[in-house]
Amino acid sequence: MTDTARDTTPRPTTFTVHSPATGKPLADHPVAGPEEVARAVRRARTAADRWAAESAPRRRDHLLRFKRRLASALDDVADTIAAETGKPRGDAELEVVLTLEHLAWAARNAGRVLRRRGVPSGLVAAHQRATLVHRPLGVVGVIGPWNYPLYTPMGSIGYALAAGNAVVFKPSEHTPGTGVLLAELFDAAVPGYAGLLTTVTGAAATGEALARSGVDKLAFTGSPGTARKVMAVCAESLTPFLAECGGKDAVVVTADADLDAAADAVVWGAMSNAGQTCAGVERVYAVREVHAALCRKVVERAGALPVGPDADAAYGPMTMPGQAAVVRRHVDEALAAGARALLGGSASVSGRYVSPVVLADVPEDSAAMTEETFGPTVAINAVADVDEAVERANASAYALAASVFCGDRRAGAAIAARLRAGAVSVNSVLGFAAVPALPFGGSGDSGFGRVHGEEGLKAFTAPQSVTVRRFAPPVNLTSFTAPAAARARAVAVARWLHRRR
Ligand code: NAD
Repeated sequence: MTDTARDTTPRPTTFTVHSPATGKPLADHPVAGPEEVARAVRRARTAADRWAAESAPRRRDHLLRFKRRLASALDDVADTIAAETGKPRGDAELEVVLTLEHLAWAARNAGRVLRRRGVPSGLVAAHQRATLVHRPLGVVGVIGPWNYPLYTPMGSIGYALAAGNAVVFKPSEHTPGTGVLLAELFDAAVPGYAGLLTTVTGAAATGEALARSGVDKLAFTGSPGTARKVMAVCAESLTPFLAECGGKDAVVVTADADLDAAADAVVWGAMSNAGQTCAGVERVYAVREVHAALCRKVVERAGALPVGPDADAAYGPMTMPGQAAVVRRHVDEALAAGARALLGGSASVSGRYVSPVVLADVPEDSAAMTEETFGPTVAINAVADVDEAVERANASAYALAASVFCGDRRAGAAIAARLRAGAVSVNSVLGFAAVPALPFGGSGDSGFGRVHGEEGLKAFTAPQSVTVRRFAPPVNLTSFTAPAAARARAVAVARWLHRRR
């Protein structure tokens, strides 16, 4: 590009976050450009060296102090989350509580999961002592979404820190205050590690700068479309990439299921947080015998939900300005294609607020069944049997989570095993979210890689394999001095053994 062609439009240096509930401005935040991001990554690298050199128990103690600080600041953090997302205060509190559970687990288990351990060295290498250790990567970049602005990114941040890394966090431009507060609380709880957790604020360009900054891994949570763009940037420098993307989660309901429990869970799974949950319920496949009864119970419960800006509302506004239009399009297209509206419809969308919508008989090829709606809507379709339910549930580009409601727990678990999903709950929805030991993540358009659990700790490490020669082997197969006859004998013995076993 020539100088004359270069875009000289001054870039804004700050951006304003508005309340989704009232539209009023909440705060201004700096737009971090490539220089600011590079500076944060440099500071993080210095801090990472010292953090990685700490003993695992010391890191655990620091992180548990951070956890206690976060718990003490629960009110402030919940207020910030509620203000930025518009979700009810109680939901924001629950988000903080879940985050604390995960942080505690990551802090307490990292030493055990990642420490050096011996592995069998096998017959040919019996003279070697073999060990494996999971070492920190260095600096991890985390790009977060707005719908769970603490819980979701902390699935990467908390686990990456516990695994011995520094983190540079780019929160969503809709919820930067939550990210800023998180880093402030960390600095206050873990003094002396300046730059170990830094929050850089801004929108897509700031995220892109982080992807280009030379971090040792980039953990992204957001939509599959953005994941593709960020991954393409990471590909330029072979920066490892973890993608936690959206979902189109299905619930399978069998003939012997507890329909009250199923209806209760479907309504909460579909409507809580205004349906803006990656692993929220969007599709339900109920066997024909119970379809009508389940629909009645879902409509009854969903129709009674108070929606609005009040503190006692079941859920609040759509956080993103444009999301209500997406919800309306999905509902309108489904109805035009022959779906039945059991509750609500196009008119349920009113500005930023969307009242519950329950649809039935929704054509499987309509957007309401194939794209992430991310709103307080649910489609309940009848199926002939469990086989059809499984087939339809699995016929999605997404594969994040799923649920099964079944009278027999064992039969429910057997259905779970047939579902293409990274996490399945039997007789509940989102049961896995509060179990820190369980990894979370999907496949297909839901992304790849795992956060949480042992896999989530290992995701932010590089395994190093070490062998230490204990004694001289009878035949040294890795030496040019090994006599040909001895080598042939060793091969003959190995062949004999492998043919038998
Ligand atoms: P988004 O894809 O619009 O944005 C996600 C993040 O990427 C934001 O921080 C944004 O600023 C940043 N970004 C946007 N363009 C970028 C670019 N070109 N380069 C670098 N960064 C860029 O997603 P969103 O609307 O914030 O979040 C909603 C999505 O997240 C939904 O699809 C939801 O299902 C998904 N989600 C998934 C999980 C999970 O764990 N699987 C959890 C929460 C949300």
